[in-house]
Amino acid sequence: MAKVDLNDARQRLAQIPREQIGFFPTPLHRLDNLSKDLGISLYLKRDDLSGPSTFGGNKVRKLEYLLADAKRLGAEYVITYGATQSNHAMLTAIASSRAGLRPVLFLTAVVPPDPKDLRGNLLLDHVLGAEIHILPMQPGMSMADASAARYESAKLRIMELESLGHRCYKIPGGGASPVGCLAFASGYLEMMEQAQREGVDDFDYIVHASGSGGTLAGLTAGRALSGSRAAILSFASGFKGADYASNVADMANKALSLIDCTPLVAPEDIKFDMGYVGQGYECPTDASTDAVRLFARREGVLFDPVYTSKALAGMLEYIDLGTIPKGSKVLFWHTGGVTALFAEAAIVGDVHR
Ligand SMILES: *Cc1c(COP(=O)(O)O)cnc(C)c1O
Repeated sequence: MAKVDLNDARQRLAQIPREQIGFFPTPLHRLDNLSKDLGISLYLKRDDLSGPSTFGGNKVRKLEYLLADAKRLGAEYVITYGATQSNHAMLTAIASSRAGLRPVLFLTAVVPPDPKDLRGNLLLDHVLGAEIHILPMQPGMSMADASAARYESAKLRIMELESLGHRCYKIPGGGASPVGCLAFASGYLEMMEQAQREGVDDFDYIVHASGSGGTLAGLTAGRALSGSRAAILSFASGFKGADYASNVADMANKALSLIDCTPLVAPEDIKFDMGYVGQGYECPTDASTDAVRLFARREGVLFDPVYTSKALAGMLEYIDLGTIPKGSKVLFWHTGGVTALFAEAAIVGDVHR
């Protein structure tokens, strides 16, 4: 394994099998109104427009690599996990349709859905014909307990499918595997090329919402490959354990090893803030709700109440406090999730006021 230069990295990434599912590169553009209001130069990277349907998101990038891997291994079924309003689960169903694979979803009802009034992603999962298993969230259950319960019930279904001779490909929640996050290493290089075409050599800050950590791992790996000096500021959508940074660094290095690169990411490179989560995952806050309205009303760009809005709230406060100084060049990576604006009222919050 060797340290590689940028062209070398590009070539190695291009050799990783990739299923064509979305539309890449996703757009990158400046927000003139809010740049003026906030005293920074603010850009968006539009992974919400990744396609292939109206409702894109960051998982499409990852799924291009993951489903290519599934097909290489001869899988027919794709098994994945999330909440009932999981963007990742819905996009796995979308991507599986394109790739000719059968999606099986294990979904925890963090906010219980009404079976007579299906909303948002869960409605789409049904439209897409996914095999859906819903697991209740028992009182007092942590998110870690919920994901353990999902794995247990998936195990039984996988055994059943395999005993019938079907091969299953398991995708961790959020698509956070080394193969999946390699997509964001390549996404980082895609973004740098676009930025340079816009006359920005490098951003000072790259801001995004974090869940499983796969996006953060991939971006951090991509930054190391590209030589970019941007600080990546990652805002959590829910509470994470103390080992989050080391797990993310480990995933980034495993992704790099898939393209024969030496480890380039240390846990200290992971800047991660849980200060804008509020009560928890899928619980909107006043600041996240205000952020959705601000970007809608000043720029006509929609963000989601679960992930991106909390990262926007964090970014806006960092600008206020001077943690992100005036005049900075800031890229906000729009990771999608806008279907959650049509989810259960408890998830949507007061964005309409
Ligand atoms: C999944 C998701 C994220 C977080 O990405 P991870 O790779 O899981 O950390 C952010 N925003 C949206 C809209 C998502 O669906």
